[in-house]
Amino acid sequence: MIQSELLHQQLSFSQLPLRQELIKSIASLNYENMTPIQMQSLPIILKNEDIIAQAKTGSGKTAAFGLSLLNNLKISFFAVQGLVLCPTRELAEQVSQAIRRLACLMPNIKIINLSGGIPMKPQQDSLRHGAHIIVGTPGRVLKHLKSATLDLTQVKTLVLDEADRMLDMGFFDDITSILSASPKQRQTLFFSATYPEEIKQLSKQFMMNPKEVVVGTPYDEIDIEQRFYEVTKHTHKFSLLKSLLLHYQPVSTLIFCNTKQQTTDVTDQLIHEGFSAIALNGDMEQVDRDLAVLRFANQSCSILVATDVAARGLDIKELSAVINFDLAFDHDVHIHRIGRTGRAGNKGLALSITTPADAQRICAIEDNLSCPIIWGNTNEFEHSHATRLVPEMVTLCLALGKKDKIRPGDILGALTKDAGLAGNTIGKINITAMRSYVAIHRSHVDKAYQYLQNGKLKGRKVSVRKIS
Ligand code: ADP
Ligand code: MG
Repeated sequence: MIQSELLHQQLSFSQLPLRQELIKSIASLNYENMTPIQMQSLPIILKNEDIIAQAKTGSGKTAAFGLSLLNNLKISFFAVQGLVLCPTRELAEQVSQAIRRLACLMPNIKIINLSGGIPMKPQQDSLRHGAHIIVGTPGRVLKHLKSATLDLTQVKTLVLDEADRMLDMGFFDDITSILSASPKQRQTLFFSATYPEEIKQLSKQFMMNPKEVVVGTPYDEIDIEQRFYEVTKHTHKFSLLKSLLLHYQPVSTLIFCNTKQQTTDVTDQLIHEGFSAIALNGDMEQVDRDLAVLRFANQSCSILVATDVAARGLDIKELSAVINFDLAFDHDVHIHRIGRTGRAGNKGLALSITTPADAQRICAIEDNLSCPIIWGNTNEFEHSHATRLVPEMVTLCLALGKKDKIRPGDILGALTKDAGLAGNTIGKINITAMRSYVAIHRSHVDKAYQYLQNGKLKGRKVSVRKIS
């Protein structure tokens, strides 16, 4: 076990044996210091050793493995040298984008995403042109292996991101098959929030003397205000949820439910009550899941109602509150959920709705806290005048995307220069293959909409719609 003395040393990225291009791209991303998990894992990973790294969501694990994947690449050798497995398509998407950003100064690096929920054919076509790094979900990667469209025989580094979650989702056999299909002489990295038995089993079978790195407590208790509320019956949960939202008025809230059905029910009821909410679960079509995450992240929707699996690892900044509509089954999962609020020095808020049936789980959670649980009292709530928060932004969807060679700058330029909007009224811009999404401040959205409807983007007329 690596001790945490290292934590107090401020080691900078430039002291690591990294390619100059990577040092420069880190600087351009404004990463000044390494995060604790990066500080502890990168020196080991860069020595080509195997590692099992445990750290909470948002601790910077992607860059830890992304940098070492890129550092070890032989660019002139056009074969798959790095493979990252992630539990969901959203995560695979996020991870490949993060690696692309790190690789921005290394020309000619090809990274391919292989996730389920989309057709095999285009993936097969891009694989035929070769790639250096594959990021994908276990099921789909295995499918390509079986159809012989993916060759893993040259893999040097294999990463399991959110390993525990992939195992929870039943990917044990798929992962075993994939690990067995890659060369024995390779580096294997496991990143995980918890360290269950199945991971130990996999590491025994597939790793060489792995070093274990655990970073600190999984979250900083001091940075999160945690409150528990009790209702006598399950059927009273929704009305408590409503009171909590009206009382605390969080700008953005992630609500956790234990079942997919519950996420849909809660979302429907919230919308019916006039809240801006959207569900995220594995039963939804992939396009709808992508859009849900996009709208929540760009702040045009204030509440995301998700299962643990669907929300796992999503890098969503500025989350004001986490609400457990259903209490997690397991202490680790609880900690993981609430650790998503209160990042980057902001104080977080974690609210849990409980029923008498949760007594045992509550004890388990309390055992792991440094102080007793604080029970909230809704009688103190004053919200006779409280309004439902309206999200600050509205998303416009344009029917032009990467295939039309649209870049964020084109949209930003059209809206600021041509339509005359101030830069600070324009939020996140996301561009997918066929569409572009831009978040506009609610007060200026009509102006932007009018302009886009009548004007042109890169010389072309574009169809635009508001998403709500
Ligand atoms: P994890 O995989 O541990 O959940 P991520 O890798 O998604 O976390 O990182 C969370 C956020 O922290 C990302 O937005 C990333 O850009 C940012 N980040 C990563 N490393 C650093 C760093 N050294 N300094 C500042 N921000 C960082
Ligand atoms: Mg991650």
